[in-house]
Amino acid sequence: MLRRSGLSLGQYFLRRKNRAGFSWYLNKTKMSRPIQARRLEGLDKNVWVEFVKLAATYPAVNLGQGFPDLPPPDFAKEAFVKAVGGENIMLHQYTRVFGHPALVTILARFFGKLLGQELDPLTNVLVTVGAYEALFCCFQALVDEGDEVILIEPYFDCYEPMAKMAGGTPVFVQLRPKAAGAGKLMSSGDWQLDPAELASRFTKRTKAIVLNSPNNPLGKVFRREEMEFIADLCVKHDVLCFSDEVYEWLVYDGKEHIRIASLPGMWDRTITIGSAGKTFSTTGWKVGWTLGPDHLLKHLRTVHQNAVYHCPTAAQEAVAQAFQRELDHYGKPDSYFVQLAQEMQQKRDWLVQSLIAGGMKPIIPEGTYFMMADYSELKSEVPDLPDSEEPYDSRFIKWMIKNKGLVAIPVSAFYGTPHKRNFDHLIRFCFVKEEATLKAADDILRRWRLEKTGP
Ligand code: PMP
Ligand code: GLN
Repeated sequence: MLRRSGLSLGQYFLRRKNRAGFSWYLNKTKMSRPIQARRLEGLDKNVWVEFVKLAATYPAVNLGQGFPDLPPPDFAKEAFVKAVGGENIMLHQYTRVFGHPALVTILARFFGKLLGQELDPLTNVLVTVGAYEALFCCFQALVDEGDEVILIEPYFDCYEPMAKMAGGTPVFVQLRPKAAGAGKLMSSGDWQLDPAELASRFTKRTKAIVLNSPNNPLGKVFRREEMEFIADLCVKHDVLCFSDEVYEWLVYDGKEHIRIASLPGMWDRTITIGSAGKTFSTTGWKVGWTLGPDHLLKHLRTVHQNAVYHCPTAAQEAVAQAFQRELDHYGKPDSYFVQLAQEMQQKRDWLVQSLIAGGMKPIIPEGTYFMMADYSELKSEVPDLPDSEEPYDSRFIKWMIKNKGLVAIPVSAFYGTPHKRNFDHLIRFCFVKEEATLKAADDILRRWRLEKTGP
């Protein structure tokens, strides 16, 4: 019957319901009380949901969402294959709720050295479903109704909805660009916090500050003095720090990644967040972690055990093996972390040239695999886009995807509602891509420029 009708299962039942006059079925959604929990109010829009769909809809070169189209390192792939295809059949079953033993052990060893702390794998490490879950646990476990959370704009977009879902109030402070020297390109390092402005954001209600270095979307790597200033304020006001360090290995031009948890007075109040997705170019594995003192992590464990319980066992085993390999090669030329950063720096420099050739002004990132660029000069190339509530960068990119076949991400998505419009002359490109992908983007940008100026 179903096969004869040529309908999908869903369509088939819907038609039967309608035919049978089951209008009550549709009305069921009209309840006399509000359906949506209040904490979700205004949080339904998501830049990734929207732009990932657009990238899949149009035949476009995708420099939007941050994922590598490069293969992950062989040792990581092989570790995963071995985990699912090897003799240890227990790797197909549940593992320890707060982290697979092999993974928490190596994370404690690896990061203990870097943080200058003796880490207990059982109490100072929590493995999560990506850094997303790590962040979610931080907000749910430690932010209460009425608490203020300081977010540094531009910030990775999920911090704001996560703070609000926990009942917290985001308080914004901006990295402000200083003019680059004449004829020079701006660097992400030219974007700085105003110390007095930052200090003024700390109040009696401040519970936490979120620090993301290297920063997505700007690529800023906070300098030691900048970190020390933030750390001193945290200590002075007894404030927690959620330190999102997922791009910790992607630092260029000899810059140093500073771990705020290693600064005086900060270990006890900091949760350090990492991601195997960024570390081993395996974003689909969704393995992340938090490191911190037991008195903070024990509350994250409460959220974790009641939310996802644990992260897939085989993926954790593979990440454990990959870290073991990196520990053995730490700081050596064949370390993946060293090689990835070198490769990305080269790709960054190519993309800078492509964007300049296309008439944009890139802001050179000191870290991450993202680059923001000012596209103002290209505005005249775009037909009048109907005015709307939507920031201009978002409308511009939608036009660019459909008409030029190139995907980027609007920078307004990384600002709080009051400031989105001030930064909608910027868009973000991702460069953790194959040479062929970057070349295809380069072709589009140069062709576009030629069309404008003529041969
Ligand atoms: N923090 C930042 C700054 C990110 O860019 C991302 C995106 N990967 C995440 C957290 C989430 O990481 P994951 O994919 O491991 O959940
Ligand atoms: N962190 C990645 C980015 O900034 C992906 C985020 C996502 O897909 N939710 O592009």
